[in-house]
Amino acid sequence: MAYEFDLFVIGAGSGGVRAARFAAGFGAKVAVAESRYLGGTCVNVGCVPKKLLVYGAHFSEDFEQASGFGWSLGEAKFDWPTLIANKDREIHRLNGIYRNLLVNSGVTLLEGHARLTGPNEVEVNGQRHTAKNILIATGGWPQIPEIPGHEHAISSNEAFFLKELPKRVLVVGGGYIAVEFAGIFHGLGATTSLLYRGEMFLRGFDGAVRKHLHQELIKRGMDVQFNADIARIDKQADGSLKATLKDGRELVADCVFYATGRRPMLDNLGLENTGVKLDERGFVEVDELYQSAEPSILAIGDVIGRVQLTPVALAEGMAVARRLFKPEQYRPVDYKMIPTAVFSLPNIGTVGLSEEQAIEDGHQVRIFESSFRPMKLTLTECQERTLMKLVVDADNDKVLGCHMVGPEAGEIVQGLAIALKAGATKQHFDETIGVHPTAAEEFVTMRTPAKG
Ligand code: FAD
Ligand code: NDP
Repeated sequence: MAYEFDLFVIGAGSGGVRAARFAAGFGAKVAVAESRYLGGTCVNVGCVPKKLLVYGAHFSEDFEQASGFGWSLGEAKFDWPTLIANKDREIHRLNGIYRNLLVNSGVTLLEGHARLTGPNEVEVNGQRHTAKNILIATGGWPQIPEIPGHEHAISSNEAFFLKELPKRVLVVGGGYIAVEFAGIFHGLGATTSLLYRGEMFLRGFDGAVRKHLHQELIKRGMDVQFNADIARIDKQADGSLKATLKDGRELVADCVFYATGRRPMLDNLGLENTGVKLDERGFVEVDELYQSAEPSILAIGDVIGRVQLTPVALAEGMAVARRLFKPEQYRPVDYKMIPTAVFSLPNIGTVGLSEEQAIEDGHQVRIFESSFRPMKLTLTECQERTLMKLVVDADNDKVLGCHMVGPEAGEIVQGLAIALKAGATKQHFDETIGVHPTAAEEFVTMRTPAKG
């Protein structure tokens, strides 16, 4: 059968755009449907605007610290509408870049909601299109537990467009988004409480990292509460929100922000017209080649629920494009040693195994750890400390994990990730000359194991 397209991509986010552009570049006839915004979550309501707000929040401490270096500033004032308007302008510019990238690479862009009407057929704006392969790259959507009054809460989607900065914010959750947004609200001047339901936030990260960040957030004056979970939210006569916790305590705020995970975006996608199956968590089930239970339909990115990070969606999109249209260049995505950063204030940067994970995997570990006050702060009152940690395999000297909490941790860990991917040993770290004076040189000067 002759199809209109070789590849029909649903969703012009990180993964979809990458797959579409590369497939078109390899000579395939490609269409992309996008219902909401070009560039997807990352560009519009994710990584990019989030990082811009983090930069904004960081200025408050820069102003505080400047006096130690001889600067005297007038009273610092912050204007939320200016930050949001400038952020919106930048996102608008990026949307245009994504449009050009797609159009210039020969991809047919269809703006509208796409619905599968069969294994090889998609309907957009009332028009049906056929394709040999269909790629579901529809991403995810915030998930707020349905407690009484949940309709008064917002998610990250709304936070980026608030008309004003709330004076008092309750941030619920203990993952990436909760910790990052608590830092944004707090840094910009809102009275911020971070409420996490468990014993210690950032489950899955190295224990020392979690504890260190907790201490640093408290030092900055953020109210961090563990074993705290909201049972109901009530709007009060003055417009404020009263959150009643499961333990009966009541907290009042102007904004309750939930960051309690993301579900796959499958709304009205028409999966029932295909043989696509979902896994037990509700994400699209795919094999190692991203093929669903329906042979003509593939899926990548957040909708498959493996690793919900933009660079991973990009790598998966590239793998699909190569496998279908340039098989001689195909390489499977390697999910080991994926570096990641949490853009909390201070940042976390991490790659490889946590100490706990390494032990659970059966490694005998040697741990190197250093906590110090960064040089930049020595002329200031700020007591913030940086943490660096290496998890080393005691049997073969391989560095299994690098972890950092401190300024620019994400930037530093990106370089270390290459070393770990190449199989670096602690001896390689020891023999590497430091860059002086930097914080990063501490990673190559830790000599005495803290454990092991
Ligand atoms: P998406 O980028 O979500 O794209 C999916 C697209 O599909 C969307 O544009 C959507 O409108 C469209 N779509 C959905 N259904 C349909 C349909 N039926 N028809 C047509 N179009 C449809 N990752 C990082 O690596 N670093 C970060 O710093 C980071 N920060 C984040 C901050 C926040 C607040 C959030 C929410 C996420 C963040 N992420 C970050 C995660 C990152 O944004 C995602 O992992 C990434 O965007 C996933 O890409 P994707 O292609 O799977 O989906
Ligand atoms: P995460 O899955 O990272 O964290 C969800 C948090 O919410 C966990 O602490 C979880 O607790 C808690 N939680 C879940 N359900 C409930 C509930 N019903 N009530 C109370 N708490 C609950 O999700 P996020 O929303 O923070 O982010 C989604 C993903 O987006 C991330 O996992 C990450 O992959 C990506 N992202 C990446 C960023 C980056 O690279 N810097 C930044 C932002 C997002 P528990 O641990 O107890 O289950």
